[in-house]
Amino acid sequence: MSRSERIRRFYDELYKKYGPQGWWPGDSPLECIVGAILTQSTSWKNVEKAISNLKGSGLLTAEMLGLVTAEELAALVRPSGYYNQKALKIKNFISFLGADYGGSLERMFTEDKSVLREKLLSIKGIGPETADSILLYAGGMPVFVVDAYTWRVLSRHGIVPAETTYAEMQEVFTDSLDEDAGLFNEYHALIVRLGKEHCKKSNPVCEGCPLEFDPHFV
Ligand code: SF4
Repeated sequence: MSRSERIRRFYDELYKKYGPQGWWPGDSPLECIVGAILTQSTSWKNVEKAISNLKGSGLLTAEMLGLVTAEELAALVRPSGYYNQKALKIKNFISFLGADYGGSLERMFTEDKSVLREKLLSIKGIGPETADSILLYAGGMPVFVVDAYTWRVLSRHGIVPAETTYAEMQEVFTDSLDEDAGLFNEYHALIVRLGKEHCKKSNPVCEGCPLEFDPHFV
């Protein structure tokens, strides 16, 4: 099987086993963006607590996030960890949104995908995974999101070397799949599920794993 065939077969097997994952859990594009920033280095459960605090305080609008101080915001997002840095990152994003798109996410998402990606990456505290999560899950743009789970699966199956880059892993998928936001959304969510249930960091459970059929090295 070629690399592309393996990548497509992985998707089929994962989808067959787990079904649709219903990502991203957020009521609005802004909530997805804030969630994408807050989920850096923490679990989604902690993000939910922080988002619930923001909602309870009526702060989950671009206007209110622009008005609140970084200190007040940090206190509310505390459950997500690294709260001072994350509050600043949210403020940085909101400043960018105001300066470049008059505070309108609708306007922001009419931007060319590659141009917007570069702009997001230029915001302090927004790296490739967060930028791509914003583009895909908040903007519905066809951008493949790569994370530590993706690296684990691809490297254990010898599809990428252990020393690889975000861009190389992303290319593995974009070279093999149709440019389809729905497919990219589902595939990333399925990989996260796989990483949590089978392809764990220290003790991968290959037996019964949906990708057990493919040669792997653990
Ligand atoms: S077969 Fe093993 S290495 Fe491959 S994805 Fe499953 S748990 Fe990970």
